[in-house]
Amino acid sequence: MRSAGVLVTSLALLVGAGVAAPALAAPAPARVPVADGHDSYFPEDGNRGIDVQRYKIADAYDFASGRLSGTTTLTVTATQALSVFDLDLLLPVSAVSVDGQSAAFSKPDAHELRITPPSPIGRGQDFKVTVTYAGAPGDLCWQGECDWLADRHEVVTMNEPHMAAWWFPADDTPADAAKMDISITVPADDQVIANGRQISRTVDAGLATTRWKARDPMAPYLAFFAAGHFTVSKGRSHGLPWLVAVSDQLSTVDRNSALRLMRKTPSIVSWLSQRLGRYPFETVGGLTTKLDPGFALENQTRPTYPMLDDEQTVTVVHELAHQWFGDSVRLAKWRDVWLNEGFATFLEWYWTETHGGPPAEEHLLDDYAQLSGSFWRTRVDDPGAAHLWDTAVYERGAMALQALRTRVGDKVFWRILRGWAATRAGKTGTTAQFEKYAAKVAHQHLAGFFNAWVHHRTRPAMTAANGLAPAE
Ligand SMILES: [Zn+2]
Repeated sequence: MRSAGVLVTSLALLVGAGVAAPALAAPAPARVPVADGHDSYFPEDGNRGIDVQRYKIADAYDFASGRLSGTTTLTVTATQALSVFDLDLLLPVSAVSVDGQSAAFSKPDAHELRITPPSPIGRGQDFKVTVTYAGAPGDLCWQGECDWLADRHEVVTMNEPHMAAWWFPADDTPADAAKMDISITVPADDQVIANGRQISRTVDAGLATTRWKARDPMAPYLAFFAAGHFTVSKGRSHGLPWLVAVSDQLSTVDRNSALRLMRKTPSIVSWLSQRLGRYPFETVGGLTTKLDPGFALENQTRPTYPMLDDEQTVTVVHELAHQWFGDSVRLAKWRDVWLNEGFATFLEWYWTETHGGPPAEEHLLDDYAQLSGSFWRTRVDDPGAAHLWDTAVYERGAMALQALRTRVGDKVFWRILRGWAATRAGKTGTTAQFEKYAAKVAHQHLAGFFNAWVHHRTRPAMTAANGLAPAE
């Protein structure tokens, strides 16, 4: 599933993890539009001067033509005085209004939608911007990503680091989380699943509009919808509502197997909650698509999966661990992606350790002994835009956490993980902030430790200080 190919020792886990993400053909070009610049890897992502509070998305999708049309209203706070501002959207736009008044707009390039409000907006002012758009998302690629996933019976929006720009206008950076209210119109015999909870479904002239709403803000790339025919199973566990869905395009055998796997979701959430603290959202679940994305993705409250057999529980553990690390605690910048992937991968190891498999420490020491070459040349806290999904980001990230566990001891280690999830819930976190937090909780100087594991391009020395030998 991964193309990196350097890792052999835990291939089964990695394949099971299903964590590969999309191929990025090349790093972002150096051009930095005036309105952008949040993220050094993706300079066009996000937009200066705006803080989106809420997206109200109303899209319609036609399976036969692959055309999507929609209107999204964003509730925005101006973080500076604005005479012009950008949103990120790949689809062609036909109309824009700001607070109900028609606004001038242009597409300076394929990705940016530049909007000139009828009158300047003052700093701190809230305003609503409504964008009407239509096009065939399947025809759109941007910087090597062709992210639309659909056939004539099923569609699911799942990708990272980008997905929003294929179906709604966004301030497309994980740094700007907002509430999502998603309405999707498809033929009345199709179902729609999205983030959060289903609010309503109305049928008119053979078309059904299904509305989903998520209570907690999310990064735009974590918003999703799927439409098609699904077998749905739902319930409530420890007070938490859950809903899982599996594509009816799968064979009966596969569908039943995927359903068995999806139904493990509530018990895995409960297991994770005992280690990581309270589950951060109001609902949970998962969706298995017949389409073949080649990876699973941690869409907020409802991860999406390719067809997996019911033995691949660690993949579900991985995506649900992301609800704490990646979704609740968000990235400020993509270079820190090990804070998502290393953490989710470590939780796979820990699941294995506590479910009859080898201890995570053994996994760490086996990797340490067996991995060589380019694996150790990846700088975990700055892998480069084209290497965000390299094995080293996942595996060396997880090794760093197990090494930290060995170094500070089990009790302190879990205090760090729980505390990090709690203190940064609903906020962004950076590598520097995590290091500072870990050192504070452990009452130890950990600069050398983190240098060895996440900042340096070499194999850490086999020392107790690096968590590679029992402390004295
Ligand atoms: Zn992941």
